Amino acid sequence: MAQKRIGVLALQGDVREHVDVLRKLDCEVVEVKTPAQLASVQALVIPGGESTTIFKLAEIFDMLEPLRAAISAGLPVLGTCAGLILLSKTILDPASGQESFGGLDVVVRRNAFGNQNDSFETELVVTGIGGLVHAAFIRAPIIDSVGEGVEIISTLPDRRIVGVRQGKAIGISFHPEVVGDSRVHELLLELVN
Ligand code: GLN
Repeated sequence: MAQKRIGVLALQGDVREHVDVLRKLDCEVVEVKTPAQLASVQALVIPGGESTTIFKLAEIFDMLEPLRAAISAGLPVLGTCAGLILLSKTILDPASGQESFGGLDVVVRRNAFGNQNDSFETELVVTGIGGLVHAAFIRAPIIDSVGEGVEIISTLPDRRIVGVRQGKAIGISFHPEVVGDSRVHELLLELVN
């Protein structure tokens, strides 16, 4: 089978970890910083980091409209943590001027677990993945509510929503890539024809 060409949005955040996971899955990986690079990939990962910064850099690099257009046209996309925030239709507590790229009809709350010191790791059930996923939560967002057509793929034991999927967009609050788990990325690859 031909190698899949997958992008990682490389404006800020844990780009390297996603690149490593995708290479392990035998993908050709493009660190996406320009509209031309974006147009060349079959799917895109939006990494964790700081959603405010990624949004501002997307504006500065003239990537905002190309990203919105590609996602709404159905480019398969996976957002982790800050990436989930950037895919969410509504951000409850945006930084001043912060918007999103869209893709998931959900309401998200940033830094829902407190600050960096309240980061934690846990094991989670994720729909479509056999066995538990080891998940790191780092200043993570929570999904407050979801619109029609959004599938909830992961919740914490207290039922708070930490993973969703809608069409070709997947968003998760946590970071499987920092612990080298590639199975959520495999879900993204399944969305590439
Ligand atoms: N709190 C960050 C934000 O608002 C997300 C943290 C992360 O991606 N690990 O973007």
